[in-house]
Amino acid sequence: MNAVDGYGRPLWVLGSPISHTLSPALHNAAFEAAQLDHRYFALEVDSGELPAFLDAFRRLDGLGANLTLPLKEAVRDHVENESEAVATVKAANTLHWEDGELRLENTDVYGFKQLVEPWWDRIREERVLLMGAGGAARACLQGLKEIGAEDVSLWNRTTRKAERLSEQFPSLSPEVLTDEELESGPPGVSVVVNATSLGLEEGDPSPFPEDRVTSSMVGVDLIYGRETAFVRAFRENGQEAVGGLRMLIDQAARAWELWVGETPDRDAMEAAVAAERST
Ligand code: NDP
Repeated sequence: MNAVDGYGRPLWVLGSPISHTLSPALHNAAFEAAQLDHRYFALEVDSGELPAFLDAFRRLDGLGANLTLPLKEAVRDHVENESEAVATVKAANTLHWEDGELRLENTDVYGFKQLVEPWWDRIREERVLLMGAGGAARACLQGLKEIGAEDVSLWNRTTRKAERLSEQFPSLSPEVLTDEELESGPPGVSVVVNATSLGLEEGDPSPFPEDRVTSSMVGVDLIYGRETAFVRAFRENGQEAVGGLRMLIDQAARAWELWVGETPDRDAMEAAVAAERST
């Protein structure tokens, strides 16, 4: 089976659960803005179903796909061709064609770098505290490494997971903080990144002690869609803080570029996300 020129090709976001994803809205908005007939769908797929999906993807001449929990790591067992970022982060969020071969990419790394772009100098020269040790935190560590960070501290609710993550980045070798060290305010921190899922739910507290926000800090939260307690604590102290919307848009825009070979209309993507969130 081959796609017919001018009639568009299918793309998917895969995961489980997947019903709350914003990806179809933002990618389809960019396809419409570019007057392309590709269509992007959400599909509930678990790890055991990945081989069947990849077979169908090839038969249907799919243009690309995104992967979310719980498939970001599992997909590497089925697609060998991967970028350096995927190999380091050990997770992929994008599937695309390159020279006739399927390839895995991790565009969260690019999205994170864009999110913190205003503070690259501080990241290179001063101390960064990264909170979390899940998939998002791994992408952040790779991004911090690529930006040129040298002084990174890592805290996670489960300290052992932070220690394991630190070992995976020997060139950065982030110092792992205990709960006590976090509570007493780690000295010299300039940029604080929340890559935990604390803040996803309304009413969640900030993972960073609010009384430890100082006048020399910037707060970066990967969570988007609401002003989290983390972001609010920085702003109420008169400090700069940003949520994760720009990362969401930039990781999607980078994936779109890999599929289409052009730059998407970011305004259309942002408008689609805003429209979805207001419904
Ligand atoms: P994971 O499930 O892989 O990791 C979750 C992390 O949050 C772990 O470090 C976990 O700690 C920590 N955590 C969970 N609950 C709590 C709690 N009550 N208190 C403190 N820490 C907690 O998720 P991801 O890493 O994939 O995603 C993390 C967040 O990043 C999500 O909210 C997601 O929405 C956001 N994200 C945003 C993106 C964007 O484009 N803006 C892109 C990717 C992610 P422990 O190890 O102890 O369980």
